[in-house]
Formats: sequence, C-alpha cells, structure tokens
Amino acid sequence: MLLQYQLMVQRRRVDEEAEGSEVITMVKIEVIEEDEEKMVVLLKGTDRAFANALRRTMMSNTPKMAIETVRFQMGSFDLCLSCSHLNPAAVARESSGGSGCDNCGKKLEKEDVDYAVWETNGPLPDEMIAQRLSMIPIPTNHDEYHFEESCPNCKDLVPEDRGCPSCNMIYTCKAFGSEEGTTVTAGDMVFLGDQSLEIPDRYRSIPITKLSKGQMVEFYATAVMGRGSEHAKWSPVCGVTFVPRQIAILNNKTKAKILWDLNLTINAKDFNKDGKLEDIKKVQTLIKDLYHVGDGTEEKVTFKEAITLEEVPDEYIFSFETDGSMGPQIAMKKAAEALSANFESLKVDLSAAL
Ligand SMILES: [Zn+2]
Ligand SMILES: [Zn+2]
Repeated sequence: MLLQYQLMVQRRRVDEEAEGSEVITMVKIEVIEEDEEKMVVLLKGTDRAFANALRRTMMSNTPKMAIETVRFQMGSFDLCLSCSHLNPAAVARESSGGSGCDNCGKKLEKEDVDYAVWETNGPLPDEMIAQRLSMIPIPTNHDEYHFEESCPNCKDLVPEDRGCPSCNMIYTCKAFGSEEGTTVTAGDMVFLGDQSLEIPDRYRSIPITKLSKGQMVEFYATAVMGRGSEHAKWSPVCGVTFVPRQIAILNNKTKAKILWDLNLTINAKDFNKDGKLEDIKKVQTLIKDLYHVGDGTEEKVTFKEAITLEEVPDEYIFSFETDGSMGPQIAMKKAAEALSANFESLKVDLSAAL
C-alpha cells in the first residue's frame, strides 16, 4: 500500500544567504499502515516542531460532531396490554373515570392484566446519561454539516436560535426495561435523517443505561460540530504519537551472530549488502529483538554495539487512532487543513504587525 499525499506548509527559512526569503517545502506523507480507525504514516522532509503541531492540531482543532444537548421526556404511562399503546398516566384508567385505551378503547381496570405502568426513570441520573451520550462517536460528515456559527442558514441568528438540518444532527431513543434488566445501547438511538449517519455497527453496543421492568427512557439528543480544545468529546483521535524514524546498522557480523542464534524474528538476511536495515516494520521488530541482547542481559557483555540504531534526519513515524466518528485519513486531512489555516492567519497577523 503506497498511498501518498502531500501537505503544503509554508515555512520561512532565514539563513545568511537567503535572509527573509520564503521557501515553500512539501512535507511528504507515506502511509505505512491503515485500517478503519488506525493509521501509521511516515512524515518526510519535516521537523519535530511540525510533527508536534500536527499532533496537537489533530487532538484539539479537528472539527467533529458530538452530542451537546439532550432533552429527556419525563412522565409515566399506562401501556395497554392489548394493543401496546402508551396512554398518559392514569387518565384512561377505569378507576379515574377514564374511557379506556386511547387507541383500541379497551377498558383499563387491573394493573398488569389490562395495563402496565412505565415511568421515565432508571438507575442512572440524566446528567450521567447525557455525559455518556456525548462520548458516543457520531459519524461526522464535514461536507454536509457546518459549525452552528458558520452555518449558511444560522450564522446571522442569535446563538439561542441557531440549529437547522445543516448544523444539527438529532438522535432519538425510546427504550423499555424488562424483568431481568435490559441494557440500552448506542444502537437504540435512531437518527432523524439519512440512514448512513446511524451509529455504525461496531459502536452500537456501547452501553447507555440499564432498565428494569416499569422503567423507560425517552430522549432527543442533538449533536453539533465542535473542537477538542473546548471539550474532549470533540476530539476525534487518541494515542497520537510520533517518533524519529530509525534504521539499523550492522557493525560487527561475528558478534551479531549472538542475536541470530537466538532465532528471533529478524536475521542477517534482512540487512542489505551495506549492512543496513531500512524497512520500517522490520526495524520496529528488531528494536524488540534487541532487548534480548541489550542492557541487563548476559549477552550484552559480548554483543556490545554489534547492531546499532541510527535516526534518519527529518523523518518521523506518526501514528494515531480515531474514536470512530471519522476515518483516519479524514482526521489527518482535516487536521492539516486546520493547521494551514492557522499558519495562514499567523502570516496575515505577522505582515500586519511588521
Ligand atoms: Zn389499547
Ligand atoms: Zn444551521
């Protein structure tokens, strides 16, 4: 898999010959590993500061949808056991002079025979449920959804009035408990809109609360676009790290045999004729193998520096996972966009100040 895409970053190189001149360098990105929610890339022609800027931007400045407000429906209901219709509490009951089920007209005389009582309560407080909802990965489509403050329909409204199908995603949920206890999960939420934005299969089992017989929950949850700098729920990534790329040098063939004789993963054949090992994944494996002949082992005494690791200048291995709200390529692309927008505004500020 050699998918490459490039990122343009403007940097100012100030040295004796070219003082003040502006050089545009391209940071090359090579994908080493990628799946639905994890990515490892090689950044080439860059420095630590840039890799770290990308890391921090990815965590705190990449737009993502997350649930921001939840409206809980409160009340209790008489469930008609003939037609499963939910009648408002007590009013349809025979005992209070009601005329029976609103839907089928059946008389509601005896609890658990004609009707069952359901109340909107449960073991977890609403605040805790709202917190859990906010952490569920909401599928984020950056082309269709906008920040409320820059939404084409809402940007001119006062903040309280904002919210439309271009900047809000609404999920509803109505779930009932059972005698043995029923776990309400992310999969019980229904998106009011395009089906492709339902909670994806692999996250549908995320638990929200657990309900017993007679307990129910009903809510409308609204997701909006935000950034991780405001709240962790808007951070689409986790475990974002980078390390300098290393290659291995074979310095002493005879002594290196100590490692090969241990029959671990990497052996002499993996090194090229110049005695170097450059393959990124193999180097990562070798680093683990070297623990067997490293500090604190008996072998270290004779093995010494038979194989050493050397950093490749200007190259970094950058890896991260997403929370599932978007694919890793999108997270990377959106972070790069946010970063160049930052540089752009910095450039404008600088030229205004100078
Ligand atoms: Zn009925
Ligand atoms: Zn809007």
